Amino acid sequence: MAKRKIALFGGTFDPIHLGHTRVAEAAAKQIDAENVVFIPAKCSPLKGFSPNATDDDRLRMIELATRGNERFSVSDCELHRPAPSYTLDTVKHFQRECGDDALIYWLIGADSVDDLVLWHRIDELIDVCRLAVMVRGGYAAPSFDRHLQVLGRNRVEKLRRNVIETPSIDISSTLIRRRLAAGEDVGDMLCPDVMDYIRKRGLYRRN
Ligand code: ATP
Repeated sequence: MAKRKIALFGGTFDPIHLGHTRVAEAAAKQIDAENVVFIPAKCSPLKGFSPNATDDDRLRMIELATRGNERFSVSDCELHRPAPSYTLDTVKHFQRECGDDALIYWLIGADSVDDLVLWHRIDELIDVCRLAVMVRGGYAAPSFDRHLQVLGRNRVEKLRRNVIETPSIDISSTLIRRRLAAGEDVGDMLCPDVMDYIRKRGLYRRN
């Protein structure tokens, strides 16, 4: 019997934006995932700084942005573990929860490929799940060859097989934070409920 596919989508989501939800939707369709689980990181090991918004606010914004899509769900599992949030621990957590009949994907944006070899136990992570790289439509696939020496041919081939083409959406949380701090409009980059939440809570304003 074919395994059910679960896509895990981790990030800082500070805040979650339409780039996140649209590429996640496209990725879920392409891999035929029954569920995309959004997983806010307590603190990303590679970002080198803490999120601006609190864990609770980031979680609430993800709930608001995902509640209209029945394929989407949210997990706070990384928020309950001490920082930093290692992807391998989270994948293993879901493998235990979902059982052997589930195939776990971990979605990453193509911009994360360059520093992939710095990820905690990256070789084991590639072995235990399908690390799926979301590439912007119309852009060249990222170069995995530079990681050949560290990861070896089999793992690089596995990464290559799991490239997913997703729409190109030029939005980042950094841009949104900057614009909000400058008092500029970001309404076209966020789900309206998230925008309302940011306004009501006074998030990302310059102090
Ligand atoms: P920041 O600007 O604060 O670094 P971000 O917008 O990149 O944030 P993250 O929460 O760090 O958002 O991203 C989580 C995941 O979503 C990462 O794998 C990232 O590559 C991917 N991602 C973020 N924005 C987009 C986008 N517009 N299109 C495709 N993937 C994206």
